[in-house]
Amino acid sequence: MRKKVLVMAGDGIGPEVCREAEKVLKAAAAKAGLELTLEEALVGGAALDATGHPLPEESLVKAKGVDGVLLGAVGGPKWDRQPMDLRPEKGLLALREGLELFANLRPARIYGGMTDASTLKPEVVEDTDLMVVRELTGGIYFGQPRGMGHTDRGREAYNTMRYNEQEIERIARIGFDIAGKRKKRLLSVDKANVLEVSALWREVVTELAPQYPDIQLEHMYVDNAAMQLIRAPKMIDTLVTSNLFGDILSDAAAMLTGSIGMLPSASLGKTHALYEPVHGSAPNIAGLDLANPLAAILSAAMMFRYTFDLPRVDEAINRAVQTVLAEYRTADIAAPGKTTVGCIHMGDLVVQALDKAG
Ligand code: NAD
Repeated sequence: MRKKVLVMAGDGIGPEVCREAEKVLKAAAAKAGLELTLEEALVGGAALDATGHPLPEESLVKAKGVDGVLLGAVGGPKWDRQPMDLRPEKGLLALREGLELFANLRPARIYGGMTDASTLKPEVVEDTDLMVVRELTGGIYFGQPRGMGHTDRGREAYNTMRYNEQEIERIARIGFDIAGKRKKRLLSVDKANVLEVSALWREVVTELAPQYPDIQLEHMYVDNAAMQLIRAPKMIDTLVTSNLFGDILSDAAAMLTGSIGMLPSASLGKTHALYEPVHGSAPNIAGLDLANPLAAILSAAMMFRYTFDLPRVDEAINRAVQTVLAEYRTADIAAPGKTTVGCIHMGDLVVQALDKAG
């Protein structure tokens, strides 16, 4: 099997964490007999400096021509005074839009021995391994009409939460498919007791269920889901929800793990996929070999599962990370009794653990 990956390292710690993720990508691909071609393209501040645009046309064309894109991070103080449409972050938004990525996947997984990094009690977060699937291109963030105006009661602002059947169906199918690759339990989250748009959401998801007979589907109101995430996160396997609810729930789920340096993500479309750590460019630690590369490494791992359809490679990388964390930590997740290492060393340790696993 042959696959092409585009690395868009971006700014700040982006290049450092991408370099480590690349090492793991190459090592894991070699072990799996996958012939991998890696290319590079500019995005964010780095692209602005070189071309005057945060997402040059050439970068988008390259991104459309590969199987998967691995992105580091964009932004930094150097570009903070740029006009809004020429900010590094615009490059990332344009890339997501250009690749028509409508599903955002954010896993939240607690690695053994890392329960102390969470703000919740160890016994509550222990063994948590869940996936939030968020609709990314519809709902209240994009619904029309929207705006601000004046009324005889003063200023007024409004937004519209809107989904059509097709938009709900395509994200629900992603949810069912992902649940099928995990523990086969799908939790659809809505507010169907109050919102018509949620009532339609629930109807469409329910209508699809017979096509996925091996998946156990459950529905939950978003307020209850927020409670359950904090009360008993290990009860949740795959959660699918709309843009607004997913935005909030995925951040809450992410924080169960306690560290932003550990959080990977994937954004999927019909034909393209983007994998990126959740964290930003962390300019305060850029270039100091202090960044935790695991979010980027685990994002690359997700590429094996969702783009290359090689879930066992994703699992092997996750096991390697688990093994390394038992002894070594980067500064952001340092713990008593563990050796603190830098970004490069952490990447090397994961490659070694992967190799040793045979
Ligand atoms: P940030 O995620 O870059 O950093 C927040 C804090 O977490 C900092 O203390 C940082 O040192 C730490 N941190 C982040 N990633 C880490 C890692 N891998 N290892 C160790 N520590 C890590 O968020 P911010 O400071 O709000 O933003 C900095 C810049 O990044 C801004 O320009 C912002 O616009 C941009 N940003 C980009 C993205 C993206 O590219 N997806 C996301 C968020 C922010």
